[in-house]
Amino acid sequence: MVKMKHLDNLLIRGGRIIDPSQGIDAVGEVFISKGKIAWLSVQKAKPLPDNYQVIEARDMVVCPGFIDLHCHLRQPGFEEKETIATGTRAAAKGGFTTVCCMPNTKPPIDKAEVVEYVKNVAAKEGAVRVLVAGCITEGRKGGKLADFGELSASGAVAFSDDGSPVMDSAIMRSALEYSEEFGLSIIDHCEDLAFSQDGVMNEGLAATKLRLKGMPACAEESMVARDIRLARIAGGRLHIAHVSTAGSVDLIRSAKEDGIALTAEVTPHHLTLTEEAVVGYNTNAKVNPPLRTANDIEALITGLRDGVIDAIATDHAPHTAQDKNCDFNTAAFGISGFETALGSLMTLVHQGKLDLVTLISKLTWEPASILRRTDLGTFKSGSVADVVIFDPNKEWVVNPEEFVSKGKNTPLAGAVLKGRLLVAIFGGAVLYGNEALINRKRWTLKEVC
Ligand SMILES: [Zn+2]
Repeated sequence: MVKMKHLDNLLIRGGRIIDPSQGIDAVGEVFISKGKIAWLSVQKAKPLPDNYQVIEARDMVVCPGFIDLHCHLRQPGFEEKETIATGTRAAAKGGFTTVCCMPNTKPPIDKAEVVEYVKNVAAKEGAVRVLVAGCITEGRKGGKLADFGELSASGAVAFSDDGSPVMDSAIMRSALEYSEEFGLSIIDHCEDLAFSQDGVMNEGLAATKLRLKGMPACAEESMVARDIRLARIAGGRLHIAHVSTAGSVDLIRSAKEDGIALTAEVTPHHLTLTEEAVVGYNTNAKVNPPLRTANDIEALITGLRDGVIDAIATDHAPHTAQDKNCDFNTAAFGISGFETALGSLMTLVHQGKLDLVTLISKLTWEPASILRRTDLGTFKSGSVADVVIFDPNKEWVVNPEEFVSKGKNTPLAGAVLKGRLLVAIFGGAVLYGNEALINRKRWTLKEVC
């Protein structure tokens, strides 16, 4: 961690405070003292100490720092794509004060020593809180379960072979059974490789026109269906990662109606972009699962509104220019997502498809609950002061060259987004701040982003 002096006393006033954990959506004040939320007031002013700094947040949204349950920080092993230092700065710039990194590193995070390595680097060099997912199987090879006891004891918060599915049904069943002992989620990358292998985009009309091999929706859906069946007999806490199809939403909906304990996430890109983004062989729109159709987007948004989908996760997947500046078939899968997440998700709010409180809930309280970290993503007094302030109406143009992330791979270059982060506060310290809101001269702050 870059050590920053937190402000002893900080008042954020006049903003629209949204804290879904407490059902709050009102104009008011948040007071931070010694790195913690001291109080929030939405009705009458509370007494203040003699000395405090002020952030004027009129017309701004003030909410708990975002929690990303699914991202790739690439360290150890792929530091040319991203490091914990650069990835967590990009996260802060996107409003994420807690991120959970996936274990498809080199070596994979399948042993305590690798969990500890990531935690140590994050503590020394990270800008925000890094939680670590451990592997489901040794080496992510799908053959033998990793030692969940060892991983959990070293601080892993979930298990996942993300990037690859667990193809063997018996192994997946054992993983669900075994994980129950630790109360941690299995973050499930659903993809039947027999259907999807060598595919590079969504199977459908666009792929046919482009003469590219498609990945059918049922490659995802058949695995979602299988794992729901397995969860029914095995128990555990199944969490479906990056849901991308209308069929998956239907399967998750009926499983929840049947009382199966499972959760699900969707990414900003699957909520806002269709397979058409690939036209012109745009490798920056190549992602797994692939961008789907307008019909899928509609089902995903309905799923969010109905509570079928619990959380929004970026699946931030940074790559080097070389990984993307090549033939579409050989380009790497993935989108660098931290820095555009809020702006692209706000599109849904401005279009009237999703209300702002639901959006904030899917970025704060609900992912905190999935990770069993209900001490985060809330403004309850005494909680750590992770706070995001954003202007819901500020327009800006996406310029990947301005990304803090090493990964400039975004299909949104040049897009105009409406909704911009202005301040990110982590444990009472301002990580990222806008000149207009903060009178920097009076503060001894070191800005990290
Ligand atoms: Zn995945």
